[in-house]
Amino acid sequence: MARVMNFNAGPAALPLAALERAQKELLDLGGTGMSVIEHSHRGKAYEAVHNEAIALTRELYGVPDSYDVLLLQGGASQQFAVVPMNLLAQGKSADYVLTGAWSQKAYKEAKTVGTVRVAATTEKDKKFGRIPKQSELELDPGAAYVHITTNNTIFGTQWHDIPETQAPLVADMSSDIMWRPTDVTKFGLIYAGAQKNLGPSGLVLVIVKKELVAEGRKDIPAIFQYRTHSENNSLYNTPPTFSVYILRNVLDGVKKAGGLAQVEKVNREKAKLLYDVIDGRSDLYASPVDKDSRSVMNVVFTLQTPELEAEFLAEAQKRGMAGLKGHRSVGGMRASIYNAVPLEWVQALADFMSGFKK
Ligand code: PMP
Repeated sequence: MARVMNFNAGPAALPLAALERAQKELLDLGGTGMSVIEHSHRGKAYEAVHNEAIALTRELYGVPDSYDVLLLQGGASQQFAVVPMNLLAQGKSADYVLTGAWSQKAYKEAKTVGTVRVAATTEKDKKFGRIPKQSELELDPGAAYVHITTNNTIFGTQWHDIPETQAPLVADMSSDIMWRPTDVTKFGLIYAGAQKNLGPSGLVLVIVKKELVAEGRKDIPAIFQYRTHSENNSLYNTPPTFSVYILRNVLDGVKKAGGLAQVEKVNREKAKLLYDVIDGRSDLYASPVDKDSRSVMNVVFTLQTPELEAEFLAEAQKRGMAGLKGHRSVGGMRASIYNAVPLEWVQALADFMSGFKK
């Protein structure tokens, strides 16, 4: 079987070992005679997988006891609404930093819940091609929270320095969670759809300070309260058991491969390979993103004409490379090189890019 070099933006490539383990265990999870997706979520076999996924998240990401790790459904998009429903108390306002389409969506959704402010936006001056500096943020010190999107999947930008804020920092990390070791305590709440760095879609990881969970609003439906899921170890209702199982496989693989420091090292190498070609071949490629804002996860670039871009994609496909077309709203190319994309695939792409004109 030939597996393609998958540069999709999400759902995206998963580690081969995690998939092979699933294949091996699919009919019989640990000698139970049943697949993980046939087990009751209240049974011991699933519970062990569930708790291991949470424990591995805590261990690899250094999540302290003062934070909850929640495994939820509804995608990151649901969190756009659930975050303000829980954390935006009446009479308070929340700050949003707009760095792309996803942060705009988060902002719009929050607006339906309560009062929100734009603390900064990079839409007009650089078409979201950069991350604002700390000095550009007009923060309200009394805000309920400050929301950022740490990696902008569509525009290919990423916050490399986490901003200082007085209010709790809430981060959509859907496209760069666990790309490197992170000081979780700098954040009040982190959320991430799993389908890029962590596993399949249908699962959202939320890491939230227990204090914020306790202070959260109680006048919203129980299913949307973080409190409900915190009190029930994310087993209030049926969790997406297969997605949690794959998350467990992925994180177990990360641990065995040396943890997040090793993941960061390889991720930086991969990104450098591509950006070096883009910068070294300015006769052919251009980057719409400021150098200090470039994403290590989504490398966005353009060629000189739509015809060349079409030819580039067709040639890439012939070489077994998929998913390189940019987002429909911005065009150009995008190579998504999440944690599970091996260095060899990125090397193959860099070689192809270097030789393309010839
Ligand atoms: N935030 C970011 C940064 C994303 O990249 C995406 C999806 N690509 C979303 C939110 C939305 O995620 P979901 O489809 O899980 O709702």
